[in-house]
Amino acid sequence: MKVRAYAARSAESPLAPWEVERRNPGDTDVRIRIEHCGICHSDIHFARNEWQFTTYPCVPGHEIVGRVAEVGRRVSRYKAGDLVGVGCFVDSCRTCGSCRDGLENYCESGPRMTYGSFEADGTTPTYGGYATEIVVDERFVLRIPEGLDPVAAAPLLCAGITTYSPLRHVGVTAGTRVAVMGLGGLGHMGVKLAASFGAEVTVLSHSASKKADALRLGAHEFVQTSSADALVALAGRFDVILDTVSAPHDMNGPLGCLRRDGTLILVGAPPEPMAIAGFPLIFGRRRIVGSLVGGLPETQEMLDHCARHGIVSDIERIAPEQINEAYDRAVRGDVKFRFVIDCTKF
Ligand code: NAP
Ligand code: ZN
Ligand code: ZN
Repeated sequence: MKVRAYAARSAESPLAPWEVERRNPGDTDVRIRIEHCGICHSDIHFARNEWQFTTYPCVPGHEIVGRVAEVGRRVSRYKAGDLVGVGCFVDSCRTCGSCRDGLENYCESGPRMTYGSFEADGTTPTYGGYATEIVVDERFVLRIPEGLDPVAAAPLLCAGITTYSPLRHVGVTAGTRVAVMGLGGLGHMGVKLAASFGAEVTVLSHSASKKADALRLGAHEFVQTSSADALVALAGRFDVILDTVSAPHDMNGPLGCLRRDGTLILVGAPPEPMAIAGFPLIFGRRRIVGSLVGGLPETQEMLDHCARHGIVSDIERIAPEQINEAYDRAVRGDVKFRFVIDCTKF
């Protein structure tokens, strides 16, 4: 089954219309008519081969919301017409310890990513959500709760879970002092979610212009970090720093802003390695942990949490022809705070 999509043909070429082949739905598959798909900075890193492992053509997109069009004969969780979501992965081995723990994102064989991986046959590439339809096993499909604006809920499937999961994992709760570094798609969700857990939230941003937005989103304080003095004044201050910055940056100054035993969570994935000095870690027994999106049960938990708290992403809706311009604007930081593509217009 051919469906319309947008694809990058090389690291240098702009994304352009293309057609992808989707499999016919099997017994446990759900065919989804995609309505909206967010643009994550990972899509940009990937389409431009910044991580050096892209194969072309590549159809990005892993913040997918749409309606079920058809279900296989053994599908029990969904029926035609349901509002559903698909995030960063569409399958996993289902048997390893991580999969059994509901942490399919850490599948020991590697989760099958929504784009840039291979289907179960090991040879057909996976193509993402910049398309009109996708076919996914029901087990890897999420339910979008009633009451969430479906367009603004799309970014929850990556930006939402990527920030929710590690904040929960390190135990952020009422009164925890959390700093969010980088106020972009992930960062603005991190602020909203940390504030919804009752944390005291500070935004650390290199953009002076984002203060009013940071406070509106739920931050209690905003610090512009370009000068070294700004971080010195915050020494020993935070329990947790959520680092969402997409470009190479200094991590040592921020590490010094953690209290003893504090944790810097690295979710931003700049293409180049970053230098870590020993002393900011050693003095204060501080930690750096990485985190990759979240497993299926926690993603559903996050969606339900967002529905209870009325949390969605701040978005700018665009037509498919605007994808390339949106990429350039996102890299410049000119978006509040996530572009979402209207996939009914492909
Ligand atoms: P984004 O919307 O572009 O936001 C990134 C933010 O980083 C910007 O808003 C900016 O915040 C800051 N920044 C950008 N360039 C900078 C520079 N040169 N120096 C300092 N700060 C800079 O990106 P995103 O979609 O939130 O994604 C952020 C990163 O997370 C990307 O690397 C992405 O690949 C990665 N990611 C990881 C996971 C995971 O599972 N771990 C999941 C999704 C995405 P300020 O203007 O406030 O400084
Ligand atoms: Zn993403
Ligand atoms: Zn597994």
